[in-house]
Amino acid sequence: MEKVNQVYEGKAKKVFSTEDENLFIVSYKDDATAFNGLKKGTITGKGIVNNKMSNYLMQILEKNGVPTHFVEEINDRETIVKKVSIVPLEVIIRNVSAGSFAKNYGVEEGITFPEPTIEFSYKNDALGDPLINEYHAFALGLATKEEINTIKTMAFKIDEILKEYFKNLGVRLIDFKLEFGKTADGTIVLADEISPDTCRFWDINTNEKLDKDRFRRDLGGVEGAYQEMMKRVFGE
Ligand code: ADP
Ligand code: UDP
Repeated sequence: MEKVNQVYEGKAKKVFSTEDENLFIVSYKDDATAFNGLKKGTITGKGIVNNKMSNYLMQILEKNGVPTHFVEEINDRETIVKKVSIVPLEVIIRNVSAGSFAKNYGVEEGITFPEPTIEFSYKNDALGDPLINEYHAFALGLATKEEINTIKTMAFKIDEILKEYFKNLGVRLIDFKLEFGKTADGTIVLADEISPDTCRFWDINTNEKLDKDRFRRDLGGVEGAYQEMMKRVFGE
């Protein structure tokens, strides 16, 4: 399958149309941004790690009954996915306090919650992806109530599967962001990516950060952290 036209260039990926109107090709870049695009940089090899890791995790989810947009990996950076209409919500699941949760609510990072939390941001760069609740999402017409319920159920199920998977690799899944989309027939599927760009991963023994926080917070060892996660998932 060939790329026909670039339909979108985002901060981390390019999206192309194909000869099949129901399929896109996504191409993962090494470009990194943080703080709504204010901080920019390059993480060498990131596109390959994110493409391969995301595809691998989506296949695990599929095996566990979670529908995703994944179709076929065509090379290190490019993947055929189902074309979906993205529900403009960033769905964030948290198992442990970190990032904006710790900052907004005045708690330290690293507190394990009695059960996972969910929150939604309105995916809108101009507004800075503001936090919204599900009533707001419904009021804004971003999704139906049924779709929001489906998304919530899927997000918690994904958390259960991934938490267990990463635990076996010596990794704590702290929090992560998901995006969902609707296929031509209206089915809600997991879309976008699951990678060190969109998840917080801490080493289970040392709590060392193995994700994009190393870039956001200028901790150094950014490329090494992405390669370490690649090694944990795929072995040597
Ligand atoms: P951003 O838009 O935040 O800069 P990316 O650089 O990752 O993010 O761009 C990828 C874009 O493609 C995102 O807007 C994402 O919502 C969208 N997308 C992801 N998966 C699909 C899909 N299967 N079909 C259509 N759009 C998708
Ligand atoms: N996240 C993301 N994209 C965003 C915002 C957040 O992938 O635009 C991920 C982030 O990597 C983390 C989780 O969602 O794993 C929670 O992020 P948080 O709300 O703490 O925001 P941040 O600290 O990144 O501003």
